[in-house]
Amino acid sequence: MNDADTLFERIIAREIPADIVYETDTTLAFRDIKPQAKTHVLVVPKQRYRNVAELAAADPRLLADVITSAHKVAELEGLTENGYRVVFNTDVHAGQTVFHVHAHVLGGEQLGFFGR
Ligand code: C5P
Repeated sequence: MNDADTLFERIIAREIPADIVYETDTTLAFRDIKPQAKTHVLVVPKQRYRNVAELAAADPRLLADVITSAHKVAELEGLTENGYRVVFNTDVHAGQTVFHVHAHVLGGEQLGFFGR
C-alpha cells in the first residue's frame, strides 16, 4: 500500500500511545479509545492491508494469526466463558474509518443485534 500511513501504523511503531493488551510477531492488540462494549479491543496485523478481503487474498496465514490473536485476547479478557464477537468493518457502508484492517473484539456483557 502506498497511501499515507494510518493511525494504526503509528501505534504499531509506538509513535502514539495505546493501551496494548497482547502482541505477537505479526499482530498487535490494543483497547479501542471509544469502546462500544464493556470490553472492546482491536487486533491488527503489523503488516498493512486495507481490509479483511485484501488480507485474506494476499496472506491467509496472517489472517489466521489475527483470528488466533483475537481469541487469545478473549481468553486474557475473560470473555470465553460467555462468548464474544469479532467484527471486521469493510469499507464505507460498514463505517470503516481506519483503512488498516482490524478485528474488533467485543464482549464482557450481553451484546445487542446489529445492522442499521
Ligand atoms: O471499523 P472502524 O474503522 O470504524 O474502527 C476504527 C476504530 O478505531 C474505532 O472503533 C475507533 O474508536 C478506533 N480508534 C482507536 N484509537 C484511535 C483512533 C481510532 O481505538 N486513536
